Amino acid sequence: MSEKRIAVVDREMCNPKVTGYACRKACPVNRSGDDCITVNPEDGKINIDESLCIGCGICVKKCSKHAIQVVNLPKELDEEPVHRYGRNGFALYRLPVPKQNSVVGLIGPNGTGKSTVMRILSSSMKPNAGVFDRDIGWEEIIERFRGTELQGYLEKLASGGVRFSYKPQNVDSIPRLWKGKVRELLARAGDYGNAAKALGVEGMLDKDVSGLSGGELQLLAITAALSKEADFYFFDEPSSYLDVQERLKVAKVIRNLSGSSVVMVVEHDLAVADYLADYVHMLYGKPGVFGIVSKPYVVRNGINTYLEGYIREENVRFRDEAIIFSRRAKPASKTKLFASFPGFGKRFDSFSMETEPGNLYKGEIIGVIGPNGTGKTTFIRMLAGEEKPDKGEPLSGVELSYKPQRLLLSSGEEGMEVSEFIRSRSGASLSSAENKRVLRFLGLEKLLERGVSSLSGGELQAAFVASCLLRKHNILLLDEPSAFLDVEQRLRLAKLLRSHAEGREIPVFVVDHDLQFIDVISDRVMVFEGRRGERGHGHAPMELEHGMNLFLKSLEVTFRRDPATGRPRANKPDSQKDREQKEEGRYYYAE
Ligand code: ADP
Ligand code: ADP
Ligand code: SF4
Repeated sequence: MSEKRIAVVDREMCNPKVTGYACRKACPVNRSGDDCITVNPEDGKINIDESLCIGCGICVKKCSKHAIQVVNLPKELDEEPVHRYGRNGFALYRLPVPKQNSVVGLIGPNGTGKSTVMRILSSSMKPNAGVFDRDIGWEEIIERFRGTELQGYLEKLASGGVRFSYKPQNVDSIPRLWKGKVRELLARAGDYGNAAKALGVEGMLDKDVSGLSGGELQLLAITAALSKEADFYFFDEPSSYLDVQERLKVAKVIRNLSGSSVVMVVEHDLAVADYLADYVHMLYGKPGVFGIVSKPYVVRNGINTYLEGYIREENVRFRDEAIIFSRRAKPASKTKLFASFPGFGKRFDSFSMETEPGNLYKGEIIGVIGPNGTGKTTFIRMLAGEEKPDKGEPLSGVELSYKPQRLLLSSGEEGMEVSEFIRSRSGASLSSAENKRVLRFLGLEKLLERGVSSLSGGELQAAFVASCLLRKHNILLLDEPSAFLDVEQRLRLAKLLRSHAEGREIPVFVVDHDLQFIDVISDRVMVFEGRRGERGHGHAPMELEHGMNLFLKSLEVTFRRDPATGRPRANKPDSQKDREQKEEGRYYYAE
């Protein structure tokens, strides 16, 4: 059997006026007289005939707009796609199985088709089975899945019998789409009383949507989705912007929903996915080119298999290397003092906070953990002299570069290309070798000519992080940089930040609520406690293990490590492990 391949042309980037059809001129199949790369008469852009393509990759290299990808499909994939976005568009293979009484998680890299799955299973989009020359009917699609667990669900979809509720990934756009009070928005969704109570958002019902924080917007979006009467609920990244306590609460509420409906969740915080889902499907393939949905796996096995990059049962290796969250060797203790800082105090109208004095060392990464609204950002702004403290003196000679939690574009930025956006935010040239390395590491190299408004959540996060790293600074603060990044991107970012901190010998603060990410990245942690929006207390930076214990004790939650992969897993409340670890005071590091 000859190897099957797939050729994807990014129609937004394909620009023959610039490239002069260099791909077509260089294609060896075209040169030998066959029409492998042709010009689409409608828009002048190219089409690639996959049955003629020999996969040499010459066109990919020749295209200066990075518009072409040609990839071999795994040999084991002996079937047609469920859906394809046009002739040379992304292809999705297979579908997950919606299960009543269970929460089904979808895990995998961005761009491998999770939202496409959601569109199909919610009947927002009828799949085309990779057929473009005629309108394919539901009967053909159902025929393909005859005898599988999906058949019944697809039949229901075809008859229009599935009511659907969806929590979108991007909650930052809500204030643009809705003007008015939280209560009014929720009333449009349905009877919101129970959901609002379960999530504890009653206090924000009379607030204006325009004034909500990122975490509040997320809770609003989840409450709205829960309030709708539906047969199928889909939550696309419900944990971004939420702190750990809120993540666990949301997980519990979503789990309760699964009794009577089908519930699917996309989640990149693996500790949350683990806590939330019963089964997971992995999506693997090549982002933007093709995605394959794996069989369902019980959540622990599924996550471990995903990290390993090898599905034994299907004999597929989809990543060369395993992702291993091994017990981090004790972080090298940094000894070169960057600065000592005093205790700070600050009061806003109804919020007051204080922080303990401490030291900062050159080249260290400090994970900052604690509930939202307890003064983490205010502390670092006071440290750098950007917010005037009521008590304590800011450090002198400090230049702060700060990535805010939310990814909001100003109206002037909306029409910019990515390169212009990064240049204008950072004031840096993008041509130096060091800056190019940062862009490459963050996967931005090929996106520089795109409109910044057209980026996905993960790509926009990378653009914000890059702007911040390239700006002149000697203290770096990143507020929730993991939001919208997939697991692999989170690990790459962790590596990049480590080399940034050590190479420049500066302290880097990372506020994040993904405990696995904090665990991988931090030399020490700073723990904040208090009540959201009322008061906060910041402890001096302390050793990782000690800080994690302090933090999780305040939440009354224990984590153990998965013996196979070393990743942290939340214990079920009041389970034997939970009780044992609490008795021993080991909230985090028990085996
Ligand atoms: P994920 O949710 O895993 O990030 P998506 O399902 O959103 O992935 O998208 C997978 C790929 O499909 C994207 O990388 C994009 O290239 C392509 N795609 C998504 N929507 C469309 C569309 N409406 N038209 C053409 N291509 C699309
Ligand atoms: P965190 O980073 O822990 O989420 P922040 O430092 O951003 O917390 O904010 C802590 C509290 O201080 C919040 O309730 C916020 O509304 C309030 N706050 C922050 N900056 C200001 C300001 N300039 N004026 C009034 N209140 C503020
Ligand atoms: Fe032609 Fe295929 Fe080679 Fe591209 S990869 S140059 S389309 S044969």
